[in-house]
Parts: sequence; structure tokens; C-alpha cells
Amino acid sequence: RAKSAGRNTHKFYSDTMRIHSLHRLDIENELREAMNTKQFQLYYQPKVDLKSWSVVGVEALIRWKHPERGWISPSEFIPIAEESGLIVPIGTWVLKEACRQIKAWRNTALRDLRVSVNISSEQIYTDDLLLTVKDAMASNTIGAESLELEITESLLMRDVDSTVQTLNEFKELGLAISIDDFGTGYSSLSYLTRFPIDTLKIDQSFVRDLHIDNDDAAICAAILAMARKLNLNVVAEGVEIDEQLQFLRGHGCNQIQGYLFSKPLPPAELLALIGDNVRKSAYA
Ligand code: C2E
Ligand code: MG
Ligand code: MG
Ligand code: MG
Repeated sequence: RAKSAGRNTHKFYSDTMRIHSLHRLDIENELREAMNTKQFQLYYQPKVDLKSWSVVGVEALIRWKHPERGWISPSEFIPIAEESGLIVPIGTWVLKEACRQIKAWRNTALRDLRVSVNISSEQIYTDDLLLTVKDAMASNTIGAESLELEITESLLMRDVDSTVQTLNEFKELGLAISIDDFGTGYSSLSYLTRFPIDTLKIDQSFVRDLHIDNDDAAICAAILAMARKLNLNVVAEGVEIDEQLQFLRGHGCNQIQGYLFSKPLPPAELLALIGDNVRKSAYA
């Protein structure tokens, strides 16, 4: 009996894996198709300064509307794009589109926003990222003060020397650099002084329960205290409720990003929000 149960279990797992890998292959092919038929868009989520309660920047977040499957989440397709190498052309599209949008905002209330773009490790290690960024900026006549790169901790640790060099080149160009999902990367804190970093983004997993979980509150407070001593700007991600905001403000957090202020929005809705609502906010 145990044997047949074992066989059934084995069969179950291999079927699941087969379905899983078929799905992956589908997605991979469909990502190529999506590139060619313009199925991607960028949404933008505001980052709000806690002193002035004004929007000081936005994060560009890719959105994929598949013609049959509908919306597919980046947490589903970005890992597949990274493994297949497709993240390189997709990432180039993201950079170009963000710069095109910055240019389009030039004569609007959004002209001073700094736009941050997520960069995957494959982009730093296999593509000439610096050239791609310079091209995207030059062809839209964008200044470096309009652009920021978000990179994750694990990316920094893969090849420290070459990453320090690449990031220094971006700094020389004038771009800002943030560490995304900070606190989840299990890496040495010494890199905070080795890499040319402007901002830490506290991962939303620490923010989510900070108003009810003492450990999460302690981690957020410690990150904020450390960042202040190292002169780093801090953005808290995933802020949804007022108690989280009050705690973060009380511990000197600089900016928040989260549903409390706004979810990621298509450009027209962002313009409507920032044009109309910022000054009227209940938190002003
Ligand atoms: P991320 O860079 O850490 O982006 C923050 C994620 O948190 C976004 O998910 C955003 O919609 C979500 N979020 C913001 N505020 C809240 C909140 O208050 N509550 C909750 N529960 N979630 C909130 P999204 O857009 O689904 O993106 C997921 C991840 O996919 C991103 O995490 C990033 O790692 C990756 N990603 C998105 N766009 C790109 C891109 O253009 N290039 C690359 N390489 N990765 C991207
Ligand atoms: Mg990010
Ligand atoms: Mg994050
Ligand atoms: Mg993330």
C-alpha cells in the first residue's frame, strides 16, 4: 500500500511539474509575443515625502495585459523573464518607456518627479546597461536628476567589484540609486558603505504588521536609526494604514510608498491625482 501511495505521489508530482514547466514555456513564448505586439505598459506609484506630504517621485512598475489571459502579475512573469534572459530586452523597453514618459510630463504638474526603474541582475551582468540608460536619456533629452535605479541586495553581492564599478559609473552620470526590498537579502551590512547608495527601501514584509508585531517594529526602527547615521534616505514600502504611517514618521522615515496614498496608476490617473489631490490630502 505504501508503495502504490508512493507511486501515486510520484505521478502527482511529475504531472504538476510538467504542467508547471508547460506553463513556463507558454509564458516565455508569450513574453516574446508581448514585446512584439506592445502588450506591456508602465504604471507609476507615488512616493510621498513625510515632511511636506508631497509626491517627490514615482516608481515605474511594469504591467502586462495578455489578450486572452488578462492581467498577469510581474511577480509571475518577471522571474521567468529573468531566467530566460528576456528581461534584458524587456528591461530596455522599460527604461526607454520611462524616459519617454518623463519627457511627455515636461509641460505638466509632474515635471519635477524623479522616476525610479527596477533593474534585474541579468541586466547589470549581461547587458551594457550604462549605454542603454545613456541612450534612453539622450534620445528623450532627459537629465540624470529625473532617473533613479532600484536594485536588490542580492544583485549587489553577486560580483561585488564589478557592481561597485558599474554603480559608480551611474553615480558619475548623476543618477540616484536605491536598494529595493531592503532587509530580505541576507547580505553583509558593510556593503552599505562600499556601494554608492542614496536610498534604502524597507521591504513591505517588515511594514505590513509593524503596528501589531513588536519584532517588525524593532526591525523598522533599527533600519531607520542606522540609515540616519549613514546619511541614507529611507522609503517604506507597502504602507497601507495610518498606524504604520505614524510609527514610521515618529522614527524619522523620509518617504512612504503604498496603498495608503495611492496604488500604482496609469499616467493619466497619476496626472489627475497629483494635479488635483495632493494639496487637499487629509494628511497635509
Ligand atoms: P517592488 O519593486 O518591490 O515593487 C513594489 C510592489 O509592491 C509592487 O508590486 C507594488 O504594486 C506593490 N505595492 C505597493 N504598495 C503596496 C501596498 O500598500 N500593499 C501591497 N500589498 N503591495 C503594494 P508589483 O507591481 O506587482 O511588482 C512586483 C515586483 O515585480 C516588484 O517589486 C519588482 O521586483 C518586480 N517588477 C515590477 N516591475 C518591474 C520592472 O519594470 N522591471 C523589473 N526588473 N522588475 C519589475
Ligand atoms: Mg522596486
Ligand atoms: Mg520592493
Ligand atoms: Mg520585490
